[in-house]
Amino acid sequence: MRWYIILSQVLVVLLLRPVHGLANVTGEQDEIEMFKSDCIDARRRPVLNVRNDSLNDVGFSDFMRMHGMVQGPMIILNIKRLKELSKASQKFFVVHECGHHVLGHLYARVSGVEVEQEADCYALRTLIHRGDFTLQDIVDVQSDMRKFGRASAHHKDGETRAKNLTNCLVP
Ligand SMILES: [Zn+2]
Repeated sequence: MRWYIILSQVLVVLLLRPVHGLANVTGEQDEIEMFKSDCIDARRRPVLNVRNDSLNDVGFSDFMRMHGMVQGPMIILNIKRLKELSKASQKFFVVHECGHHVLGHLYARVSGVEVEQEADCYALRTLIHRGDFTLQDIVDVQSDMRKFGRASAHHKDGETRAKNLTNCLVP
């Protein structure tokens, strides 16, 4: 076997290794699956999607930290929880998390109900603009918000959040 064939196989093995060392950011899970995203943040940095089904929400935006060093932006997704929602909500909440990165919320270190409302509007407008969202999809997202939405320091209760979503379309 020629040396470059051996080298390419070694590289494939290295590239396919599961990624470790993110547990401090993302919870108890050891092996974390990463997958592609088309999200680009406010500083034009690509955002990585990371799966973590032990996350206490459907999604969360953060910067990746490896061995204490801050790396690029990422979206942590609880795929198990996302799958319990409608297809429309699955799309919506992934774009909502991307919205936090696009709108620079993490660089500005802002959080709270206004920021969440901004990310909701970003998601809705983006999906409609892409031609990727129907009126029924909006109804499905609102229905999931009413069913699963809990009031917290960051989120209004599901009913209010669902109602506010329609305000995103007011010019
Ligand atoms: Zn959010």
